[in-house]
Amino acid sequence: MSCIAHFEGSKGGNLIPLTQKTTETLKTCIEQWRELFKEPERTVSCDVCLPLVNIGAQIHKSCYQRLTNKKRIVLAKKRHREVSDMP
Ligand SMILES: [Zn+2]
Repeated sequence: MSCIAHFEGSKGGNLIPLTQKTTETLKTCIEQWRELFKEPERTVSCDVCLPLVNIGAQIHKSCYQRLTNKKRIVLAKKRHREVSDMP
């Protein structure tokens, strides 16, 4: 088993198994990221597939934190809106 949502450049470290709560959080956040970056060249820089996000699946703590960081999502949304509002 390896990390299900690995980022290039991630520190790695210990893999943690997803619980019911973290599975739900991760799915919600991935959906938000996907909404933000529909263009292929701007996808989140990891290969996470929603079907892989299941209880017991393993992920690096740093990768999990990066995907579920609300500040990053808010910032990305803000940037995205500014870009799409350009004439
Ligand atoms: Zn990872």
